[in-house]
Amino acid sequence: MAILKVENLNKRFGNVQAVDNISFKVEEGQVLSLLGPSGCGKTTTLRCLAGFEIPDKGKIFLDNRDITNMSPEQRGIGMVFQSYALWPHMTVYGNLSFGLQIRKLDKKEIDERIKRALGIVRLSGYEKRYPRQLSGGQQQRIAMARALVIEPALMLLDEPLSNLDAQLREEMRFEFIELQRKLGITAIYVTHDQAEAMVISDRIIILNQGRIIQIGTPKEIYESPHNCFVAGFIAVTSFIKGEISKIDKDNIVAVKTEDDLLIYAKRPGLKTGDKVSIAIRINTVQFAEKDKYAADKKNIFRGKILQASYLGDIVDYRIQLGRWVIRTNESSKINYKIGDEVEIYLPPEELIVTPDEV
Ligand code: ATP
Repeated sequence: MAILKVENLNKRFGNVQAVDNISFKVEEGQVLSLLGPSGCGKTTTLRCLAGFEIPDKGKIFLDNRDITNMSPEQRGIGMVFQSYALWPHMTVYGNLSFGLQIRKLDKKEIDERIKRALGIVRLSGYEKRYPRQLSGGQQQRIAMARALVIEPALMLLDEPLSNLDAQLREEMRFEFIELQRKLGITAIYVTHDQAEAMVISDRIIILNQGRIIQIGTPKEIYESPHNCFVAGFIAVTSFIKGEISKIDKDNIVAVKTEDDLLIYAKRPGLKTGDKVSIAIRINTVQFAEKDKYAADKKNIFRGKILQASYLGDIVDYRIQLGRWVIRTNESSKINYKIGDEVEIYLPPEELIVTPDEV
């Protein structure tokens, strides 16, 4: 069952269309991430859902109630912010009880709920501490407990982990997933970190300039991006532009570039003459060992190493291929130097072809 339904949401600030006619649903117990570059409208969308902004147009339904014009307290939505937004002058107990007092719960019920929420985030006994007496990770967990304590129908999380260092961030990601599954939380998670969105989400919305570019599972978005923007945003990707010159059986298309490279890739639904981009993921390029691909000479090209950045177990190469530069990571056991001529193989099944927008 869809717990949240958003229909044709619009929000404008002056001449910026921050949210441009977006519609989507979230099913019960699922996590939907809003992913996109800075300024694409993620926070504004979330603020409209929470009731901190009133949309210019559109409707928001939570559990079949029209909440579009309700105050934040009436909505039954919990929110976790990037800054945690804990009140510094209040203890953990004060921070957690605030939302419950507004809802006029009695003291016994408040105490029970706070005890339960602190147990869930593994901070039992921390009631009397002030936020300044907690580490970043603990503050983040208290912010989570404060959202949980109101037993929300929906939780909104706005980059909740971005203030944490890389290691803690990764740990907290898995803690969030565990908590979300255990409690069956329905959540909308805002991030500009594609790895975080991939790990956490059942479905991802890719936003750009206030518009939905694609909605799908992490696998769908990664493997079948609708266009170059999505392909480039979800993973480090190099692009080669060309035109479909021929289509073989099994939907293998031949893409001819301006500098006369002929690259084969698998992609249904295109026709001869279509202008396309080939998206090449960083882990797609293979260095062709002599004779290894003798049976199939397709997609073997001569390139030149432009840059080689040593990263420990891997080396990040930039390779000149015709007039294009493609990037790949390779085990540092293989050691090419700048200026080396190399043979590279682009496996047709692993290349992503997206039609260029006209
Ligand atoms: P970030 O990842 O940087 O937080 P975002 O995707 O969350 O970005 P929003 O904060 O939703 O983006 O902003 C969307 C657009 O609306 C931006 O161009 C922003 O400058 C503009 N904007 C947001 N809030 C306001 C406001 N209160 N007044 C004017 N413009 C605003």
